[in-house]
Amino acid sequence: MKHSLAALALVALLPLSVHASNADKAAKGMPGDPDKLFAQLDTLLPTPGVTRAASGAPGAQYWQQRADYRIQVTLDEKRHRLSAKQSITYMNRSPDALNYIWLQLDQNIFRDDSLARRSEVAANAGTRRDTVGSGDSLSFAAMRRHQAFEDREYGYEMGPVRDASGRTLRTTVNDTMIRIDLPTPLRPGTSIEINFEWQSNIVDEAAIGARGGYEYFSKNDTYQYFLAQWFPRLVAYTDYTGWQHKQFLGRGEFTLEFGDYDVEITVPADHIVASTGVLQNPDAVLTSEQRARLKRAETAKKPIFIVTPEEALANEKEGTNRTRTWRFKGENVRDFAWASSRKYIWDAMGYRQSDSKRPFVMAMSFYPNEGEPIWSKYSTHAVIHTMEVYSRFSFPYPYPVAISVNSWERGGMEYPMITFNGYRPTADEKTGKVTYSRSAKYGLIGVIIHEVGHIYFPMIVNSDERQWTWMDEGLNTFLEYIAELEWEENFPTFGDKTNVLDFITAYMQSTDQVPIMTNSDTIVQFGPNAYSKPAAALAVLREAVMGRELFDHAFREYSNRWKFKRPTPADFFRTMEDASGVDLDWFWRGWFYGTDHVDVAVGDIREYQVSTQDPDAEFPLKRQEFAANWPESYSQRQNRTEGLKTRVDRYPELKDFYNENDQFAVANKDRNEFKDFREKLRDWERTVLDRAIKAGEYVYFVDFKNIGGLVTPLPLTLTYADGSTEEYPVPAEVWRYNALEVTKLFVRNKRLVSVELDRNHLIADSDKSNNITPRRIEQSRIELFRGRDRERNQMLDALAELKGEPKAEKSTGAAGGQDVPLQPVAK
Ligand SMILES: [Zn+2]
Repeated sequence: MKHSLAALALVALLPLSVHASNADKAAKGMPGDPDKLFAQLDTLLPTPGVTRAASGAPGAQYWQQRADYRIQVTLDEKRHRLSAKQSITYMNRSPDALNYIWLQLDQNIFRDDSLARRSEVAANAGTRRDTVGSGDSLSFAAMRRHQAFEDREYGYEMGPVRDASGRTLRTTVNDTMIRIDLPTPLRPGTSIEINFEWQSNIVDEAAIGARGGYEYFSKNDTYQYFLAQWFPRLVAYTDYTGWQHKQFLGRGEFTLEFGDYDVEITVPADHIVASTGVLQNPDAVLTSEQRARLKRAETAKKPIFIVTPEEALANEKEGTNRTRTWRFKGENVRDFAWASSRKYIWDAMGYRQSDSKRPFVMAMSFYPNEGEPIWSKYSTHAVIHTMEVYSRFSFPYPYPVAISVNSWERGGMEYPMITFNGYRPTADEKTGKVTYSRSAKYGLIGVIIHEVGHIYFPMIVNSDERQWTWMDEGLNTFLEYIAELEWEENFPTFGDKTNVLDFITAYMQSTDQVPIMTNSDTIVQFGPNAYSKPAAALAVLREAVMGRELFDHAFREYSNRWKFKRPTPADFFRTMEDASGVDLDWFWRGWFYGTDHVDVAVGDIREYQVSTQDPDAEFPLKRQEFAANWPESYSQRQNRTEGLKTRVDRYPELKDFYNENDQFAVANKDRNEFKDFREKLRDWERTVLDRAIKAGEYVYFVDFKNIGGLVTPLPLTLTYADGSTEEYPVPAEVWRYNALEVTKLFVRNKRLVSVELDRNHLIADSDKSNNITPRRIEQSRIELFRGRDRERNQMLDALAELKGEPKAEKSTGAAGGQDVPLQPVAK
């Protein structure tokens, strides 16, 4: 506020008419309306209160529920089936009395009558519109899925739910949710124990496409099981939405409570089990050799085998009718998952973190021989690398183990302490030679980083996945991207592109878009919307808006405020501002609440030097300028070429004063006026003028246009005639009066030759061709192409040899003759 007088003086100098016409273009409520784009977010965010503070931190009376689980589960390998006894202790830490509690029955999504299956549309069921004809088509995979649903019944078979005293409680199943009515309301600060039994068939993951299930290996008739969303889990009860029991439709993931788990897993005796939590009975399930190897792994410099590839190969050859029970305890986790197979190779390596009380985290990988050689080479290293990078951006990894299991073809899925990850090499069918593609290698490393990263977001920073996909996927993809660039300099994260900001521009220009702030189940273009666009947004925020120091501090603050708690989008938006002192409301509006894209352009540049206003110096310059701008006309020149004599040429007596003096001739009155002007200047004005002239100052007016609509900083590179360059980052606030077009003033004592925007690809600008003035000719190579004859020649086609037929049976009809029978090729 100290500079208000100076600011007023400057405003007064602005040509008001120009200002008004720009404001007209940026009409109220239209894209480009700065009132809207720079309006504070308060109207869109929930009102802060005692549970969530205006700073974005948990409020003074923040609360969340807690649920502890005890489960005994048995895997029936012959029938691909789970049966379990389960007990939940639910602690009501809310200020509300609860008449009922809700559990999530995620496996019910696979029932024939589930909301998800009945509301599925053809386009999502593996069909596609034929691009050539007008008909519909159906994939093999879609038909296999249909058949798999025909073959077996899925969903929970639930026994009665009883309280601790054995009393049966009334229950009502609603699709993927079950309500358990309590005989008396559960008062704040009290808890209830419920017990029940259940059974369910395990889905064939490859056929049905789920986050868990079993995988069949036909080559050696073996299976692996990876169990996720496998048991009834408490629905979260929150301060912002009450029970989060929006039905599971398959897309919006899971909203869960923290608690302790004690799980006993009974599997065939030759299985190796990987699980959330710490193994409680190694003596009962591991050999002494395996236990000794595990001990060595704690301090190993590289991953060492607990089960070697050879041992795994030998183990998978036989089967057994005996069983063994593995017991795991997981503390302060929001979920529990496990995997089991006789196929597993197992390697491990202890990871030491500097600022953690825990001596080490055991990083482990479980995979079949089909994953070799890339799994033993990369998996456990990728697990540890993730913890190294993510902990720097958030907090030390708080759990005792971090696991990567090779569960499927591609893709991955995350749970506390354990992740399921895809990608395997290919074995040639004839030779058995194993090779792997570039995308399998980097896909594997990338997916492990991504899924282990999810142990931080949302397994610890426990955002509401059923509502907001971006809060875990977006933040996690952003950190994955950072971790990948720290794995290898040119890590191909986004297809062939390394830079997320180059990758995202095509999506941001597309028409079929919804804002990032959209409920998970209604997002269109899911991947770019919930993963790469928020990741790109955070990359812009870090590198082009806030800078690394402010961003990293604020992001770490968010992570630490909300670890083991439940943040909402407002808590993220508010914390990033609160901890950095940067007003980001325009940024959240544009990137998270809007669908505009970034396309800014450098327009005209006008160059000036300061005028002395001395007519003897300036009028000749004006004459030159006039001649340059308004050269003689073609007619004038042509007349002269043809030797045309004008009347004045022919009658020189017609000439007078004006034929000797053009409009730039200096008169004494002009000189007197200049003298007057100099005399009337205040001392400081004269000093300013003389100094500017002496320095030979250049004045530039540079126009910028906002074509895409999303307001953005303008990272400029100014290049000078002497070859030097200057980086000049213009903050996004430059658009706050007019979000469509702005003009920047530059005063420099050397001559500018070009202004370039976003030379370093920092702002996801989708059209780079308009990013430099003067424009550049784009250079590339062009390949000549041959026209192709697409016409079908049935007579010629009929002469083709039938593959696999003996030569003798070949048609001997005269080539091209009329005798050749025209018949469709049998298929
Ligand atoms: Zn993810």
